[in-house]
Amino acid sequence: MTLPQLTASSSVIIIGASHAGVACAERLRKLGFEGQITLIDRLSGLPLERPPLSKKFLLAEASVSDESFALRAAPWYDDNQIILKQGYEVKAIDPQAKAITLADGEEMRWDVLVLATGATPRALSVSNGNSDRLMVLRHPDDARALRHRLHQSKDVMIIGGGYIGLEVAASARKLGKSVTVVEAANRLLARVASEPASTFFHQLHESHGVAIHTGAQVDSMTDDGQVMNISLGNGQVMTADVVVAGIGVIPETQLADAAGLTIGNGIITNNTYQSSHPDIYAIGDVALPANGYTHGQIRLESVHHAQMSAEIAAASMLAETPSDRKAEHEVPWFWSEQYDLRLQSAGLVPAQHHTIRREGRREGQVSFWSFSDHNLKAIEALGDAQAYMVGRSLLAAGGNISPDIIADPDTDLKALLKA
Ligand SMILES: Cc1cc2nc3c(=O)[nH]c(=O)nc-3n(C[C@H](O)[C@H](O)[C@H](O)COP(=O)(O)OP(=O)(O)OC[C@H]3O[C@@H](n4cnc5c(N)ncnc54)[C@H](O)[C@@H]3O)c2cc1C
Repeated sequence: MTLPQLTASSSVIIIGASHAGVACAERLRKLGFEGQITLIDRLSGLPLERPPLSKKFLLAEASVSDESFALRAAPWYDDNQIILKQGYEVKAIDPQAKAITLADGEEMRWDVLVLATGATPRALSVSNGNSDRLMVLRHPDDARALRHRLHQSKDVMIIGGGYIGLEVAASARKLGKSVTVVEAANRLLARVASEPASTFFHQLHESHGVAIHTGAQVDSMTDDGQVMNISLGNGQVMTADVVVAGIGVIPETQLADAAGLTIGNGIITNNTYQSSHPDIYAIGDVALPANGYTHGQIRLESVHHAQMSAEIAAASMLAETPSDRKAEHEVPWFWSEQYDLRLQSAGLVPAQHHTIRREGRREGQVSFWSFSDHNLKAIEALGDAQAYMVGRSLLAAGGNISPDIIADPDTDLKALLKA
């Protein structure tokens, strides 16, 4: 596909001022683009980081300034001549006229458009779920509302045992709340973690007093004005002061779809995040690269992918060849924090996997190494930064390591890097 022809008088508009959009603006400036950059977001206020929303931000006093969670400090935007339009919803894209229309009717022209529109929480399809005790967590406003509600609550129910649900569970326990997690699959983190890592997190949460119900479906919910009554498929009825649904997200593809771009479970792009229109890119959670990591179509939801896709897209717009990352996408990595434990993971756990557990050098450190066809596919390290670093490097080198070597407790992990 042809590449855009950006010059110093060109205009780049980025829809979405979160991890991907801000990183893209930054990268364009770092690569020397001198034209106009406009970042537009429907949210108001300074763009904030998302990962703390289920962790430090949720635990912070309401009086703590947003500035400490800012993606970039307020002056950064002016210093880099980036126009930040917060509180503006983009309603339509006209790919022929190369224009967008805002909710207030204003039209803006672009030479290159970047869709960094992210994703939106999947809604629970249960009857009587329409209550303000039922909450989701995606953006800072959600986190503010949840923080407020948590402080007034005693019993918290989390629906969905994925990373966000479990992080909220850990934060709620830290606040002294009684917490129940309901997960439809037969294990926590079923979509993303290896089975032994799921078991590890299950035990971790139980040891902190969380009640966990796996293989449990929510049938209906009613808010009786005092509490939420939740009926499970097995007939059990529970109550909670607040229910947090963390059952995954849906990519925000509506604008792209209406503009005639090719979409699937995300906006389909090539390996450099160019959509089916050569002057429109899609990055971050909304992007579905046709040939990404694993050489398949895979939509990744992580800060690392937001950053990497933004950098690759910016380089492509300027026809630059970035030194180390163009042909191949980097090994994806992710982190999570629950209680005082930090998970660092790299690679992707395949559906069929064989996982080896390794104890770390210090007490409490543990790592899970997942293989398929005798090839390392993913590392999940808990409190063990060295295992994570070694695993990630091995994955970057192709994952060609024997499971027997990893399983051997006498193996010096660091020495593997030198081999
Ligand atoms: C609570 C929470 C905790 C997380 N923790 C971790 C973690 O520990 N580690 C990790 O790697 N990842 C974590 N993630 C995931 C990570 O935050 C996301 O992968 C990342 O935010 C994706 O960035 P993005 O810019 O693609 O999309 P988003 O962050 O979803 O941002 C998209 C932006 O586009 C705006 N927008 C959309 N449509 C329009 C429109 N039509 N007009 C104007 N604006 C629009 C939205 O308002 C939004 O601000 C977490 C996410 C959440 C919600």
